[in-house]
Amino acid sequence: MTDKLKEYNINFNSLDNILNEIVNINSKKLFIIDNNVYELYQDELKIILSNKNDNIYIFILESYEKNKSLKTIYKIYEILNENNFIKTDKVVAIGGGIVTDISGFLASTYLRGIELIYIPTTLLSIVDSSIGGKNAVNFNNIKNNIGTIYNPQKIYIDLNFLKTLKVDDIYSGLGEIIKYSLIYSDEFYVKVKKFLEQFNYSSVKSNDFERIIKECIRIKIYFIEKDRIYLNFGHTIAHGIEAVTYNKIPHGVAVLIGMKYTIKYSFNNLSNKKNEIINMIDNILNKYFKNECDYNFDAYKIIEYIKHDKKREDKYYRYIFIDDIAKMYIEKITEKEIIRIISE
Ligand code: NAD
Repeated sequence: MTDKLKEYNINFNSLDNILNEIVNINSKKLFIIDNNVYELYQDELKIILSNKNDNIYIFILESYEKNKSLKTIYKIYEILNENNFIKTDKVVAIGGGIVTDISGFLASTYLRGIELIYIPTTLLSIVDSSIGGKNAVNFNNIKNNIGTIYNPQKIYIDLNFLKTLKVDDIYSGLGEIIKYSLIYSDEFYVKVKKFLEQFNYSSVKSNDFERIIKECIRIKIYFIEKDRIYLNFGHTIAHGIEAVTYNKIPHGVAVLIGMKYTIKYSFNNLSNKKNEIINMIDNILNKYFKNECDYNFDAYKIIEYIKHDKKREDKYYRYIFIDDIAKMYIEKITEKEIIRIISE
């Protein structure tokens, strides 16, 4: 059986080697770089700057949700256009999900598709947003309102990026990792649970974590090939929470809250895992929310925002419930039932 990481051209390497390889490709390259990564990795990025010639262009993106917009896309189209980029030239994204989403949308629409390379730098973008080809920009305050599906030709991963992440962004990635463990298998769930019991900041560079990350990427690919809807577990409510808090709560943390509500509501009460999972999620939420521990959101406000949910059909939402680990089921429910899930 071929390894899916190979099949999807996902390579683990050091940033030095990665950039050396890319800089030497004989075509134009536009690097779209997260502003914080640009500041923190000046030394490593020198190779791009020192080779800055006719073939290398740089766009620094301030990674705020408000910049994940058509306005930003428009500015970058101008750069590609003015410099006569052709389909075989490259857009190279270096950053988290904001940068990869913008770059993916840009690359898929410019000339109906220009070559795209991702170098994801957050835990969430490594295990989730850079895999599967989904991209989007926000529009009229609606998150991910306009987008396409377009896969990068290559993804390069250097896990050293994780060392400089803020703790919120670690929790955010862990949220998606916990999601994979719940939707995939008992065995992987136990592995993740054990790992999280001893988790601390230095664990991000451990071999165990690298194995878990690789497994998450394979799991994401498994669901993309089988049925990607289950990847949205916890996400309907999460998108509402992100909106009502103006994206102050990171994506993966909002997903943890969405999963918790759903598990409380639907997970088989007789299973001894129900409380165990809720405790695992609470452990992270309590750390994230510190003393506030206040994530009891107003269900009516959340509903206002999830009206744009992509799984909505007329007045029904296709909602993913979970009965046990890896036993998800989908039901068409109304807003009233979503309110009940949040309020229960
Ligand atoms: P992000 O891109 O906003 O990055 C989070 C923060 O980390 C930013 O402040 C950024 O500057 C900083 N940062 C990035 N790399 C760093 C590093 N190595 N060291 C220190 N700081 C670093 O957030 P994210 O969580 O990566 O992505 C969230 C976005 O991804 C959202 O817009 C969400 O909608 C999108 N998303 C897309 C998909 C998809 O399938 N396309 C899936 C999930 C989320």
